[in-house]
Amino acid sequence: MTRVDDPMFGAQHARARLLVVDDQPLNIRLLHQVFQADHQVFVATSGEDALAFCGAQLPDLILLDVVMPGLDGYAVCRRLKLDPRTCEIPVVFVTSQVDSTEEEVGLAAGAVDFIAKSASANVMRARVNTLITLKRQTDLLRSLAQLDGLTGLANRRHFDTKLDAEWRRGIRSGSPLALILIDIDYFKNFNDCYGHPAGDACLQQVAKCLQGGFTRSPDLVARYGGEEFVCVLPDTPLAGADAKAQSLETAIRALGIPHEKSEVPGGIVTISLGVAVAIPTTRGNHADLIVGADRSLYLAKNAGRAQVKTLQI
Ligand code: GH3
Ligand code: MG
Ligand code: MG
Repeated sequence: MTRVDDPMFGAQHARARLLVVDDQPLNIRLLHQVFQADHQVFVATSGEDALAFCGAQLPDLILLDVVMPGLDGYAVCRRLKLDPRTCEIPVVFVTSQVDSTEEEVGLAAGAVDFIAKSASANVMRARVNTLITLKRQTDLLRSLAQLDGLTGLANRRHFDTKLDAEWRRGIRSGSPLALILIDIDYFKNFNDCYGHPAGDACLQQVAKCLQGGFTRSPDLVARYGGEEFVCVLPDTPLAGADAKAQSLETAIRALGIPHEKSEVPGGIVTISLGVAVAIPTTRGNHADLIVGADRSLYLAKNAGRAQVKTLQI
């Protein structure tokens, strides 16, 4: 809902989504007037409303009144900070008078700042703009920290987090979790023959093709390391994971990237794939899936490469 198409703002300066929470219509109107020119202003008139709003869509920043009937500002802030989905949203308390005890309680609840209701419009705007800039920089760094620099795929760290989360989710749901480990065949020969920069370009092409093979949002494709990739497929039984792996093998072959030093017949870049599927349990560990997929991959390599091997754990 950010208006990136607004000609006045580039993507960097897109209007931020501010949630104003206050039980007094007068205060709401005032804050709306201060921020509406620069940002998209949403309104909640109680703590309960504010939490419901954040459950449905995430604002970039929350301006939160402290004293409200029902859930007060501190309670709302504490709840937002406890929920992993909302804990990164900066919360600013807007108060009539900022005394140090109140400030201490607010900061302990997780607020980033206080603004006095008596502050000038320019001071309010300046503070909010600074916080929004910081929030955007943090978001950007967080997303870059999860990406592989060469291919733009999720990196190993992101994969580790995802696999652990999906294993725990699988324990609760009882549904199968599949892993596909992918390794480019004779890639050392490729580098030796065409040079390292060409090797890098090949990795990028393969990564893009693998990524294109996935449309389900819970699936994740990551660079596992070197010329190895890995896919996490939640809620996927062996037959489904096998079919997906086969289609990836076909898709990479269809790229037709020349590889005259491959010992696989055909003279093009191919991949070997190892699949493992398990129903997550508290007795097992997500590392079992990696070991299993690695074993399948080893079998695929030994059987002549450019193929899929599977294992049900
Ligand atoms: P196999 O079919 O058994 O997998 O043989 P392989 O040659 O692919 O396997 P090996 O593990 O011997 O070699 C992997 C090669 O991948 C070695 C290394 O030069 C290359 N490689 C790893 N990371 C990168 C990278 O980031 N860029 C490039 N260009 N090459 C890389
Ligand atoms: Mg390898
Ligand atoms: Mg290899």
